[in-house]
Amino acid sequence: MDGWTSGFEGIIDNHVHMRGLDTERRMLAILEATGIEKMGLVAIQNEPAGSGLAEPLLLKACHPERFFVFAGLNHAEKLSGGQVRTPSLVDQVDRFVEMGCDGIKMIEGKPTSRQKLDIPVTDPYYADYWARVEELRLPIIWHVNDPEEFWDPDRIPAWAKERNWGYGPEDVRKEELYAEVDDVLERHPGLQVAFAHFYFLSADLPRAARFLDEHPGVRFDLAPGIEMLYNISRDPEAGREFFTRYADRIVFGTDLASRHTVEEGRIRAGIIFRWLETEDEFRVPEEADFLLGPPEDGLIRGMALPRDVLRKVYRSNFVHLAGAAPRPLNTDVVIEECRRMAAIAEALSGKPAAETEAARVIERLTGT
Ligand SMILES: [Zn+2]
Repeated sequence: MDGWTSGFEGIIDNHVHMRGLDTERRMLAILEATGIEKMGLVAIQNEPAGSGLAEPLLLKACHPERFFVFAGLNHAEKLSGGQVRTPSLVDQVDRFVEMGCDGIKMIEGKPTSRQKLDIPVTDPYYADYWARVEELRLPIIWHVNDPEEFWDPDRIPAWAKERNWGYGPEDVRKEELYAEVDDVLERHPGLQVAFAHFYFLSADLPRAARFLDEHPGVRFDLAPGIEMLYNISRDPEAGREFFTRYADRIVFGTDLASRHTVEEGRIRAGIIFRWLETEDEFRVPEEADFLLGPPEDGLIRGMALPRDVLRKVYRSNFVHLAGAAPRPLNTDVVIEECRRMAAIAEALSGKPAAETEAARVIERLTGT
């Protein structure tokens, strides 16, 4: 199984993870193998490790035409109970813009992340941040929630359980997280958001439609959650109708990661291409990456979307959200910020600043 390739050119993938400088070549090989033209790197910070944001910035510095960066916030001050100082969220946003980042990535709405930080997005901690992001019309790729089966011990897939992504009655509830988002969107209607993974509403298209109708500034991204493909495959006709009606509101994404093998990358992207473009009935191939498996889960039925819909999903909708080309990077500011991230990691975890990915990126950028 080679993976299905798309007949389209100029595809932009808004949801890709680059982690670890050692995976740089792999990332480029995956980009090549999938035929995707440009990628949006969603950069979640790992505060105690001093990693997560620096590596995508380096990739963008080396390939300025091909990679966008959506920067994740640094919450070290909150996570350490005030022992470590970090700039305010507004200052962080301003620095992202100065660096030449293209937008923001938020993972804070994933239940595991939310519970670790334990601050709702409606908390005053975020108030100025939302106002600034809205004012700047900076795009956010925002992960909120998880598939509903993660709350059901009988239905949670093995791969999710293995990552501790199973939730019970003591955990934050799905509807609570949605209600908080509604609250933020009501207060900040100008926010430009692509909700990752179809906002986990693929099992309920009428609700997904109502949500899009109520919030003109939001889109859904198509990064699997493989359950999205299975849910919509139950009625591909209804899926095609939804995608056609909301053709301007759906952004292509894969959740490709630089830790995938090239073969896994090709398969992952191919599954989505094939689902969007053909009428084929097919299953996830055996060789697919861990988070897509196992293949016995079910049948995927292609939607054979019209070409003009595909063109919007594959490219124009992203261009409206974040621009046709990545913003230029300011290397001096990147170096300053990497220095700060390395120092925060050292203060937080005792890991020497010089051993962080952020410090390695500085070395690469300064040639030292
Ligand atoms: Zn992701």
